[in-house]
Amino acid sequence: MAGATSPTPCVFCQIARNSTSTPLLHSDEKVVAFQDIKPAAYRHYLVISVDHIPTVRDLQRRAEDYSLVRHMLNVGQELLQQDAPQSNQYRFGFHQPPLNSVNHLHLHCLASPFIPRWKHVKYLSLGPLGGFIEAEKLLEKIKPLSSTSS
Ligand SMILES: [Zn+2]
Ligand SMILES: [Zn+2]
Repeated sequence: MAGATSPTPCVFCQIARNSTSTPLLHSDEKVVAFQDIKPAAYRHYLVISVDHIPTVRDLQRRAEDYSLVRHMLNVGQELLQQDAPQSNQYRFGFHQPPLNSVNHLHLHCLASPFIPRWKHVKYLSLGPLGGFIEAEKLLEKIKPLSSTSS
């Protein structure tokens, strides 16, 4: 049987193809954005890659991956600035395995106030790198080494 795209159904791939009832806040050829089903803050959006990339461990130090993550962050920042302009704190980050819930690359975008349950249990108690990597930190890690000479 031809035509099947993936042997394992991935809920985020389905959302990226807009084949679910999840309303998309943004969509383009690289990424889509939607609300987290279990919001942990006043605004809590997810920005996912359209391509199925399992986790941050699958990203490499190369221009393609760097520009994808940079684009995910830009989309998340624009959405929060538009929908939560009065928030005084924003967070953008990725889960790192094994603490990721869905194995499809997704950027969490949060605008304060945060819901305390989230704050204490899931992310902050693990420390800044204990399960959640800030988007800017990830960008530093995968930033292509510039080769300006020769
Ligand atoms: Zn997927
Ligand atoms: Zn997550």
